[in-house]
Amino acid sequence: MDTALFIEICRENSIPCTAAEAEKLSAFADFLLAENEKYNLTAIRDERAVMLRHLCDSMTLIPYIEKGARVLDIGSGAGFPAVPLAVCRPDLTVTALDATSKKVSFINAAAARLKLSRLTAVSARAEELAHDPAYREAFDIVTARAVSRVPVLAELAAGFIKTGGHLLLMKGENSVTAGEVSDAAPVMRLLGLSHIRTDELTLTDSELSETLSRTVVVIEKVSPTPAAYPRRYSQIIKN
Ligand code: SAH
Repeated sequence: MDTALFIEICRENSIPCTAAEAEKLSAFADFLLAENEKYNLTAIRDERAVMLRHLCDSMTLIPYIEKGARVLDIGSGAGFPAVPLAVCRPDLTVTALDATSKKVSFINAAAARLKLSRLTAVSARAEELAHDPAYREAFDIVTARAVSRVPVLAELAAGFIKTGGHLLLMKGENSVTAGEVSDAAPVMRLLGLSHIRTDELTLTDSELSETLSRTVVVIEKVSPTPAAYPRRYSQIIKN
């Protein structure tokens, strides 16, 4: 990946990025694009699109996360936002969770190559792992990008978050976020979650005349989640 161009795109979007971080992210993007030829890890195959849509987009979460936080990324896929967060925030302890083991193996291989000792990927279903005592209410921050609708993610995530911690949901274009958030209000109350705010942001690559709208939904865990949640996946998606 063209590191200088990546730094330029970060600058255009007011995303802080040092040369050392850009080198690591560039090595990650090269590894991703190479492995993607063998396994289907991401639909985005163009280097420049990876810069804006995957790397910069993931980096927009950086200011939301307090120093030293324990972070869980649900449905991390090829490592977004988990890997950029681990690269740019070595103070964080990051766990990437995905149901697909080839994606988890890819993230663990990337963590080893990039020497990200505080990044670990785990292969499991969120609704099952959330009942494991080692993971229950163990995270300050849970993130999820492009995984599911807000009510579903609220239930998948709530059990993992410490009281006082936060859930950060990242959504791309065509998201009906306002409606989704209000639809999720009753289930969030049940789960001990409260919607704080929804931030709208834009990512641009002016040379390509590209403008992307993004949303970050910020939810706080205000009280413990009842032990019965999350329910089985078939029940979660029903209502
Ligand atoms: N966050 C990544 C990937 C999004 S695709 C990105 O933004 O690029 C959604 C991912 O969520 C898939 O890799 C899928 O395997 C995973 N996923 C969906 N439901 C899940 C669940 N219940 N538990 C764990 N992983 C899940």
